[in-house]
Order: sequence, then C-alpha cells, then structure tokens
Amino acid sequence: MNTARHNHSGPAAHEAEVHARVHGVPGQFDKVLDGVVRAVEWAKNYNDVVIGASFIIQKDNFHQIVRFTELMGTYGVDNVRLAHEVTPKWDELFTDQEKIKILNYLKRAKSVEDKDFRVFAMVDRLPSYHPKPIGVDQCGYQFFTASLSCDCMFYPCCVTKFNRDYIYGYLQWGSLTEILLGDVRKKLVQSFPYDACEYCYLREKVKFIDYLCQSDPPHVNYV
Ligand code: SF4
Repeated sequence: MNTARHNHSGPAAHEAEVHARVHGVPGQFDKVLDGVVRAVEWAKNYNDVVIGASFIIQKDNFHQIVRFTELMGTYGVDNVRLAHEVTPKWDELFTDQEKIKILNYLKRAKSVEDKDFRVFAMVDRLPSYHPKPIGVDQCGYQFFTASLSCDCMFYPCCVTKFNRDYIYGYLQWGSLTEILLGDVRKKLVQSFPYDACEYCYLREKVKFIDYLCQSDPPHVNYV
C-alpha cells in the first residue's frame, strides 16, 4: 500500500442493509467505512496518492448510486467509479425500465463532480455491451491495457479477468516491465482469439481502435 498511488475500494451501497445483501455478509458496512476514513487520512501523508471508491452496479443496489456518490464525497475520497456488474448474462440483468433509471442515476451522480472529486460514471457501458464481436477481426484494446487481479495474475483486459485461459503473468514472475513487455504477453495479445469473447462492454472502443489502425482511415481531417 505504501507504494500504491491509486487505491480503489469502498462499500457497495449507501446503507448497511443493502451492503450486506450485495456481499452476503452482515455487519461489514461500518468496517468498510472505517477503512475508507483511514485510507483518506493515510493519503494525506503523500502528495500523489489517489483514493477512489468503486461501486459495482447490481440489481440490489442501483437505487443507491447517487446517495453512495454523495456519501463518498463527504468522506473525502478523490473519486468514485460507478460500473455495472459483469456477467455473461449482463444485458439480461436489468429490465429496460431499470436500465433507463440507472442511466438517470449515473447522470445525477456525475453532476456531483467538482474539481476535487471526480465521478467516473460509466454511462456508455450498457449501450456498448454486445455479446458477439462486431465487424472487427482482432481486439486492439488489449494492446493498450493490462488487468491485474486480486490473485496477482495478469489478464488482457478487465472483462477477461479470472479467465484462467488468458493469464500471461504473475506478479512475482518479475518486474512490471518484464511482464508487460515480455514475450508471453506479446504472443498472447497477437494471437488472442477475439471470436472467443462472448461478452464485452468495450466493443465500441475496440471498433474505434480498429478504425484508427487502418492504413488509410477515412475522415481523419474531417471537420
Ligand atoms: S474484445 Fe473485449 S473482452 Fe475481448 S479482449 Fe478485447 S476488450 Fe477484452
């Protein structure tokens, strides 16, 4: 923790009862809030440490998106990140009405933002979600990113996290430079089976990267 400059954690709700329902463990809400208070205090010892609170949007807690954001603002974290739960059935998790409500909550949460408190409201995630690859042969996104999971394994992106077939590194194998620029990762990203990605909320980004990587992309100087 002493060398981590960006730290993300936080409760899954604005109320203890909802937090317990989401995690399936009662009595943890106050402990998590206490952890947030201590992290914010600890960060004051450094100029460049960022404390963020993540909120995974689920059926049980989406109605608390705005109040969670406001709560974290009062606790003095630097940012909150509001992102949908990812599962293979993701698009089916919410009704159309709930999706509209979530979008509105995200927009309201975004309006809480100011220069000292950023709100990363992933409003384009659900619209970008697509179960199958669209019009692209290769995923360029994974060339620009890396995902490190809590079990210290490296994966091509956050969607593929915990898929054991795609591990290309372990934190103790070597330095970050060795892992990220090493041959194992290079081989994996170059031969990555894009067709195998059954669900992904980054399709629009993948499409845009593919467009930029064409030898002569149209409309580059279009105003
Ligand atoms: S298509 Fe999506 S899920 Fe597959 S590697 Fe690229 S970003 Fe990850």
